[in-house]
Amino acid sequence: MQQFLSYPALYADICVTYATLSLSYFALSSQSAFSWQSEAWKRVAFGLLSGLALYYLAPDRFEVSPHLFFSFEMIPIILATFFGGWLSGITSFLVNMALAGPLSLDNLLIASVLVPLLLLRVWQHKTHRLFYRAIILIALYRMALAYSQPLQVPWYDVLLYQCAVTGCLAICYHALNFAERHIYAYFSLRDRATLDSLTRLNNRTSIDYKLASLQAHQKPGGVLLIDIDNFKRVNDTYGHLVGDQLLAQLSEVLMQSVDSADFVGRYGGEEFMVITERHNTAPIVETAERIRQAMSASVLPLAEGASLSVTVSVGAAIYLPGMMMSKAVEMADDALYQAKRNGKNQVMCSRIMQLDQLGDGPG
Ligand code: GH3
Ligand code: MG
Ligand code: MG
Repeated sequence: MQQFLSYPALYADICVTYATLSLSYFALSSQSAFSWQSEAWKRVAFGLLSGLALYYLAPDRFEVSPHLFFSFEMIPIILATFFGGWLSGITSFLVNMALAGPLSLDNLLIASVLVPLLLLRVWQHKTHRLFYRAIILIALYRMALAYSQPLQVPWYDVLLYQCAVTGCLAICYHALNFAERHIYAYFSLRDRATLDSLTRLNNRTSIDYKLASLQAHQKPGGVLLIDIDNFKRVNDTYGHLVGDQLLAQLSEVLMQSVDSADFVGRYGGEEFMVITERHNTAPIVETAERIRQAMSASVLPLAEGASLSVTVSVGAAIYLPGMMMSKAVEMADDALYQAKRNGKNQVMCSRIMQLDQLGDGPG
């Protein structure tokens, strides 16, 4: 029978488990809060990263008999399942199988705990109570397994080991839970500060920040101002709720009509701004025309089979290094005014766009 693991080894195992899981969680939360709803590659990565901890924990086993041993390997697998969902849990379990072999007693034990957690979809409604129920069941199961062995079990060591595992699980669970709540709060506050609540586009504050940073970096670009034609009539005829639905739908269409590098925001009421990285006349006009056609072709279904569509007018300008950004916006606004005066539902370019050959190379 193997000697009980030393306290420093036990402590190192706890630290490695906690550090690996929390670092993985933070790394995967850089753009948005990591959860069981994150992209599949992130959930697989969480499972694989928790596998790094498994790799470290696997050799530190407390063997009661050649067939029964205790290890920390279950901790990362259970936590990966609680926080990353089924994909993280299964990935972590597969790493464990690759390290320990498919038919170890420990593996069977982990599988018998993991399967009910997967069936219960524990990640969807995880609560502290559910977590503690899970670890009490694991402890009882392990004890029963030790009791069933036809040999003298070192109960003191087994109990101590069980307490260490339970403590480690609880500390890691609560630490990750704390990080999860604060990371969610951070991203939701950031969204509320930078996005428009109705359209989910960048709000006016973000637009002003973007314009200021373009000016500071002296990067040329295109500025488009888009205004829905006769929108007041929509509100007056169908009500503000329908007006809001139309604004939300047109914002989605707008997002889909621009390049991924372009910046899109709600400038005010029913006006939008697009800032393109392209800075030559032809591609800017092409983008503006694509937006106008897509938004005008969009149809909002109404009750009783009716439907609603509107047209938009677009004013386009370019920003060249050395110019004041506010001047480019003013020119786009003037062009939009011209488009309205010329009968709406069209793209108008500002006079400055004749200067596009001053831009640095093809846009
Ligand atoms: P034009 O073709 O000249 O642009 O005419 P218009 O009616 O679109 O122009 P105007 O700027 O006079 O009216 C804009 C209207 O947009 C007025 C306002 O009630 C409406 N509006 C602004 N923000 C919202 C909003 O968040 N929701 C709804 N439903 N309406 C809004
Ligand atoms: Mg309008
Ligand atoms: Mg307007």
